[in-house]
Amino acid sequence: MDFSWSESQIELRAEARAFALDAVSRYGRHNDSWINGYSKELARELGARGWIGMTWPVEHGGGGRPLIDRLIVGEELISAGAPIAAMWFADRQMGPSLIAHGTPEQRVAFLPGILSGDATWCIGMSEPEAGSDLASLRTSAVQDRDHWVINGQKIWTSFGAVADACYLICRTGTGASPHHGISEIIVPMNTPGIEVRPIHDMTTNRHFCEVFFSDVRVPVANLVGTEGAAFRQTMRQLEHERGGIDRLVSNHALYAMARERADTSDPRVRQAIARLETGYRLGRILVIREALSQAPAGFSAATKCVCTEHEQAVAEFVAATFGADAMLADDVTRGLSYAPAYTIMGGTSNVMRNIIGERVLGLPR
Ligand SMILES: Cc1cc2nc3c(=O)[nH]c(=O)nc-3n(C[C@H](O)[C@H](O)[C@H](O)COP(=O)(O)OP(=O)(O)OC[C@H]3O[C@@H](n4cnc5c(N)ncnc54)[C@H](O)[C@@H]3O)c2cc1C
Repeated sequence: MDFSWSESQIELRAEARAFALDAVSRYGRHNDSWINGYSKELARELGARGWIGMTWPVEHGGGGRPLIDRLIVGEELISAGAPIAAMWFADRQMGPSLIAHGTPEQRVAFLPGILSGDATWCIGMSEPEAGSDLASLRTSAVQDRDHWVINGQKIWTSFGAVADACYLICRTGTGASPHHGISEIIVPMNTPGIEVRPIHDMTTNRHFCEVFFSDVRVPVANLVGTEGAAFRQTMRQLEHERGGIDRLVSNHALYAMARERADTSDPRVRQAIARLETGYRLGRILVIREALSQAPAGFSAATKCVCTEHEQAVAEFVAATFGADAMLADDVTRGLSYAPAYTIMGGTSNVMRNIIGERVLGLPR
């Protein structure tokens, strides 16, 4: 078995690294840059290079490339802190969902904007009373002739204030269990009746939003997949969200800064670095396994746990290394106060462990 990278993969990595460093010099460096670093200009540059939709099928405008190529490009961009948030959700989730479940008309209408980097999407999943327990969501869509009429509220909607479209998870009916009656609907964010209230978090970010829907009317043709039976679709989408390189290297640039500063004459510091380097390599193997489709079904929950807990260990190391200076260095302060989010967004570690126990290992509930 040959574990080495191929020539073309080595070249792709070198190209992505050079591009990422150049992008950082022009658009700034961001911690967790796939969610905190928003630059439409950079998204368009990535689109022009064919680095959005790299792995989508060619017939849908994608590059038809292996998932490992996207991993390489993503790893370089995020490790360097290049601000890719304007395209990341749509590239990672919305495009693949539309390819898997959308109608030909939806693909023609929405995929080109994602591929060019022009269209930013937000994900309207969480609600004030429905986070981990997504099936308890209450935002409703009721059919009125050829429109859905949407009412309700979403929260923690990243990019709600700047997105062109929302991939909304809502209730179009009820059934035998709370999982029945859930649907996915595309909602253009300029539709009348949508009110967006940005949330200013403690790190000074404003990507989070509350989004209120009051009699918002969208065409029935905007339903993605099967009406009332989208829970499985949504879970598949979350699989795309959980096992990627974005869960491992979000604060890599901060780690690099801290390593430069660390007193490596101290054996305890050397041990801490060894632990992190080992954790990084283990996490990377899991992510690579996901990209090679070698992981068991549902295993992305374990990958996300390992990788995001590594990111938090990195944050602890950065805090210890900078000491009191961490409170003065703005970028470091932000990175540290943001760190609790790693094991919350995309599903908390507790919930990931439930999934591993129940769905991967088949343990009794
Ligand atoms: C940076 C960031 C970006 C986000 N972006 C988006 C976005 O764009 N769109 C979107 O829809 N949402 C987004 N979210 C929301 C995120 O998906 C939710 O915060 C997450 O699913 C947890 O839901 P909750 O906050 O309601 O917490 P809760 O579900 O209320 O959980 C509270 C606590 O209870 C624990 N818990 C809950 N249920 C169980 C259980 N069954 N077993 C064991 N423990 C349990 C949890 O682990 C947690 O510790 C984002 C969150 C963050 C931090």
